[in-house]
Amino acid sequence: MECRRKPVEADLRPHSSDVWHEKESVGGERILIVEDERAVARGLEYGLTSEGFTVLWAETGQQALELARSQDPHLILLDIRLPDISGFDVCRQLRVEGKRQPILMLTARDEEVDKVLGLELGADDYVVKPYSLRELISRIRALLRRAYGDLAAVSEEERLTFGDVEVDLERLQVYRRGRLVDLTPTEFRLLRYLVANPDRPFSRDALIEAVWGYDSSIGDERTVDVHIRHLREKLEDDPSNPCWLVTVRGIGYKFER
Ligand code: CA
Repeated sequence: MECRRKPVEADLRPHSSDVWHEKESVGGERILIVEDERAVARGLEYGLTSEGFTVLWAETGQQALELARSQDPHLILLDIRLPDISGFDVCRQLRVEGKRQPILMLTARDEEVDKVLGLELGADDYVVKPYSLRELISRIRALLRRAYGDLAAVSEEERLTFGDVEVDLERLQVYRRGRLVDLTPTEFRLLRYLVANPDRPFSRDALIEAVWGYDSSIGDERTVDVHIRHLREKLEDDPSNPCWLVTVRGIGYKFER
């Protein structure tokens, strides 16, 4: 299939980092911990509270759904093995309901299927137990900053288009053929970053650092692959033969103008 190409209308560079620090010092973001093991939950609660976060705790999947709906947390730490429905079900259900806050899955075992399934269902990332509290908190901060810090700081009216896709940077929305496409903040960031740097190939490590905000040593390259695939499925005519979000063999990905 031929790709219809229109020039990119705006060239957006990553925004000033000043706002991030402001955001960090404000703190108090609500974190929903979904974890049925009390001792683990208590440890997390203590660690997060002492970092200035407000903590909500759900012991079951149903409680998690209720708290996510009623309290609208800024981020959700989601254990997979829960006594009622699984963390996967919680994640899928929240995304179906249009909840877009970052979800960080806590996977008990180092199993490929757990990691990838969480990402498939709309989680932003995962952490394998046992994790260090420091690493967890640095990931939480990075995800919050990425979801609410610099994105929220885009105030000028800025739009860019490619093909039949229009990216509204003011409202943080993406339209395809005039219809709203449901992207998570992480998907939005990844798209914006690539589109803002057209024709420039990025390694997965570089994308982890730029989009997730982690040092690449603690990020996993598959996280990037799954998010790219989701973007292709949402934005490309033929996701298996993408026109815009293309693979660069031996390197990673680029947005092809
Ligand atoms: Ca559990």
